[in-house]
Amino acid sequence: MSISQPRYGVDRQSLANLLDGEPSYRVDQVWKALYGDCGPSSTWTTLPMTLRATLEKELPPSLTELHTSEADDGLTTKFLYEVDGGARIESVLMLYPDRATVCISSQAGCAMGCTFCATGQQGFNRHLTSAELVEQVARAKYAAHRQGRRLSNVVVMGMGEPLANEDALWPAMTAVHDGFGLSARHLTVSTVGLVPGILRLADRPLPVTLAVSLHAAHDDLRNTLIPMNRRYPIDELLDACSHYVSQRKRRMSFEWAMIDGVNDSVEEAAALAELCRRLRPIAHVNLIPLNRTAGYEYQGSRRSQIEKFQGVLTRRGVDATVRRNRGNDIDAACGQLAAMTPVTITKSAAQT
Ligand code: SAH
Ligand code: SF4
Repeated sequence: MSISQPRYGVDRQSLANLLDGEPSYRVDQVWKALYGDCGPSSTWTTLPMTLRATLEKELPPSLTELHTSEADDGLTTKFLYEVDGGARIESVLMLYPDRATVCISSQAGCAMGCTFCATGQQGFNRHLTSAELVEQVARAKYAAHRQGRRLSNVVVMGMGEPLANEDALWPAMTAVHDGFGLSARHLTVSTVGLVPGILRLADRPLPVTLAVSLHAAHDDLRNTLIPMNRRYPIDELLDACSHYVSQRKRRMSFEWAMIDGVNDSVEEAAALAELCRRLRPIAHVNLIPLNRTAGYEYQGSRRSQIEKFQGVLTRRGVDATVRRNRGNDIDAACGQLAAMTPVTITKSAAQT
């Protein structure tokens, strides 16, 4: 008798136990189906039908796909999944000329309550499991492959705070690294700035890339955007970043959502440049025009202001990239993931 395990929670040894009595090459075949091809069990055509049926039962998927939406001429795909217990989560696959990146969720909802973020506005539902994280990558890899592309990067920048769910995050990152063969450099963990988690991350065996969502260079402003700043203020956060950078000898990046009239002044840019220059190598900045969310009244900065801000950083020796927003029209852009069920809009009697 066997006990079923999540499809992306099983390791090779447990798989070998499950396949006891089968020819030994079956382990490799199934492993390749899970981590090489990544398709649903109906595509595991190298396996006999009966074995496929057994594996479907013994290794059930953790995610139920409810909906996919496309934007940017098919270059952006958002996946809406239901997980055990009924919570909903999203991942976004983005195809670029030189890479294919999936942005995965680490939690259903988020407890951090950042004012400008749709996930934060929604509150916390539950942590995701490692298998749920890895399966988001597997499904994106399969979808990329069907568009003739190879998945090259994973960013943990979807719903949730990954460093609040390290028990699932690290096994998942290890499985993604070992199973899909992605280099640690191509795995990015984005955090709101949980200092103890950053310090641990700096010493983990797997040297993943760190992104910190800064959004303000002064505590009084950052406190209004990110409640967690009261617990881990900027100075302490920068010390933790400094530890990461010196441990890893690796550049990190700061995320900065450009909010009109809030954090987009040249003074704020100059203060940000100072923070970046505290790190060696100097931190990189990603400027993301704020995406609109239902619960936050401010707008994204104007193009001219973003360029002015970027200019201040560049003149002070800080590299800053303005991120093109992907998937805005399907609510798939940064901070817009709220896992709403798409509704079919029908005309009401009054409209007809
Ligand atoms: N919790 C982690 C990762 C998920 S949020 C973190 O905060 O870093 C992913 C990124 O989207 C973060 O940089 C976050 O600050 C940013 N973000 C949230 N809401 C946004 C919005 N409305 N517009 C632009 N970026 C936003
Ligand atoms: Fe959570 Fe990140 Fe959104 Fe803040 S920005 S509420 S930490 S998901």
